[in-house]
Amino acid sequence: MISIVIPAFNEEENIFPAAEAVCGALKGEEHEIIFVDDGSTDESWSEILRAAEDPNIRGIRFSRNFGKEAAIRAGLEAASGEAAVVMDCDLQHPPAVIPKMIEKWRGGAKVVEGKKSSRGSERPAHGALAGIFNSLMSRATGFDMTGASDFILLDRRAIDAVLSYGEQGSFFRALSQFVGFRAEEVEYEVAARERGRGKWTFKKLAGYALRNVASFSSLPLYISFFAGGAISLIGLVLLILGLCGANLESFTAGISVVIILAGIILAAIGVLGFYVSRIYEEIKGRPKYIISEDTDERNRI
Ligand code: UDP
Ligand code: MG
Repeated sequence: MISIVIPAFNEEENIFPAAEAVCGALKGEEHEIIFVDDGSTDESWSEILRAAEDPNIRGIRFSRNFGKEAAIRAGLEAASGEAAVVMDCDLQHPPAVIPKMIEKWRGGAKVVEGKKSSRGSERPAHGALAGIFNSLMSRATGFDMTGASDFILLDRRAIDAVLSYGEQGSFFRALSQFVGFRAEEVEYEVAARERGRGKWTFKKLAGYALRNVASFSSLPLYISFFAGGAISLIGLVLLILGLCGANLESFTAGISVVIILAGIILAAIGVLGFYVSRIYEEIKGRPKYIISEDTDERNRI
């Protein structure tokens, strides 16, 4: 059986079209669709309940918005298939590609990634920022993350491996490569979002990007160490020049050196603070999501 995991946050118009498109694409294939309602404030949950009258469809509802990563995790934890496909609810990840993914999986791939061949009708600024983020992530993880997306098929072994990473700020897209199984790619065109609006604000996206880079790389922590070393060296050279009689006594030069140093020290403390806050988040060990309703439980009662 193949499980299809679909995180949904305020997607009332998209639940049925997504369910229909996935069922259409998976004709003749035993499957289950798991919608994870990430604390929607619209009618998504009642739409999911209606859709879940089909025995192949299950709905899980969060008590509030916990974010897409948490919704993906909950879906994978609930999935009972030998493989699971994670996809967006807005049909930007074309269901027609799923059979190709399944074919590669049957051919032996443990992870099949959907790779964006074009970024669709995205705003240029968004595309540029995503490009910077993806190249930072590629450096941090050591894998090519350009064009990577959350449209991924995972074999049962890969699902269990990804779920075994219990960190709070997990980043599904990178983790599914990080676990190291044989991965293949399937190209797809990002379709335009037909109904509803994108759920990301710039602030949400920037925080998400920073946390993900930090969760895979400690490099920012070292940068201040190297910057400190380089500046001390400059100071040393200035001192030697001064001792050798060069005329460097200028008030402005002195002040600017102090300001530069203060800036660097503050920035370094900021980076440190950021990582400490990540440690704090982890150490609290709070649940990553809380489920308030599950159609599977209703059916069992
Ligand atoms: N999503 C979610 N929780 C959130 C934000 C988004 O589950 O807090 C879901 C959303 O319903 C959709 C997917 O994540 O199925 C991608 O969201 P969106 O289309 O807004 O983002 P983009 O296409 O820009 O990646
Ligand atoms: Mg989208």
